[in-house]
Amino acid sequence: MYLFIALYPFIKGFEHCRPIVVVDGAHLKGAYKGTFVSASTLDGAGCILPLAYGVIDSENDNSWTWFFEHFRGAFGERVNMCVVSDRHESIIKAVSRVYPSVPHYACVWHLWQNVCKYYKKSKNTLSDVFYAMAKAYRQEDFDEIMKKVEDMDHRVKDYLMLAGYEKWARVHAPVNRGRMMTSNIAECINSCLVEERELPIIDFLEPVRILFGDWNCRNREKATYTFTTLGRKFQEMLVVNEAKSSRMTVRPSSESLYGVDDNGRRYIVCLISKTCSCGRFQLDEIPCSHAIAVLRRKKHN
Ligand SMILES: [Zn+2]
Repeated sequence: MYLFIALYPFIKGFEHCRPIVVVDGAHLKGAYKGTFVSASTLDGAGCILPLAYGVIDSENDNSWTWFFEHFRGAFGERVNMCVVSDRHESIIKAVSRVYPSVPHYACVWHLWQNVCKYYKKSKNTLSDVFYAMAKAYRQEDFDEIMKKVEDMDHRVKDYLMLAGYEKWARVHAPVNRGRMMTSNIAECINSCLVEERELPIIDFLEPVRILFGDWNCRNREKATYTFTTLGRKFQEMLVVNEAKSSRMTVRPSSESLYGVDDNGRRYIVCLISKTCSCGRFQLDEIPCSHAIAVLRRKKHN
């Protein structure tokens, strides 16, 4: 009735990724129907790494629980793990059953589609504001934007509050969800398999395996081209942060604590806890422009 596949390279690869798992389902359109489900994450270069996939009868409590039980069997539970998906109730229920201490986060795109359905008037005016709020790195920024939302349409604020800030806002998330604000990567997998999903189940599985094998091969090849230990996307982030850092003034308070003046705004960087009051150092888990300014000063002293 159900099928679950986690190939060995997926299981080994997950050990090298942040433990953020995105799940989604897509209907099969062949004679036997059923739903294709997948779990995936982003690797150290920012490419999609499929973790597990399978076929279930439909998205319901039993089938998703079964999927997560097998996922747990293959991947275990990791510290600071989280699951991101649309707000399908069965997924939320299954996560809380199989992984009681792992938070479930909403895909902000799906959440916003719901808001738009109920409050059509605010759809255009608040869309950018909502995404800025979901992605905010600092509590102050979040509060400031939320105040704006409240002034414009307090029903939207009520709805978002009821959904639970910790479910969709980066700054309220109990476990770091990194850059995984949407379940986009799972939909990317589904969109690569549109035609294949019309095949009978067994015939469908082979192109899935081939697709994932191709990705694996291509991503490995790309990874050999990098000239540092960082994957390309993160190398680019560092370069951008480095460029931003060039005009900042750094004032040490101790050997690990620094004040950084960034265009009139003052930030505090702690090298021991790897934090910055801009929020990015600890959430991106890569030095922000302020931390780089500090490192540059240390290097030149
Ligand atoms: Zn910073």
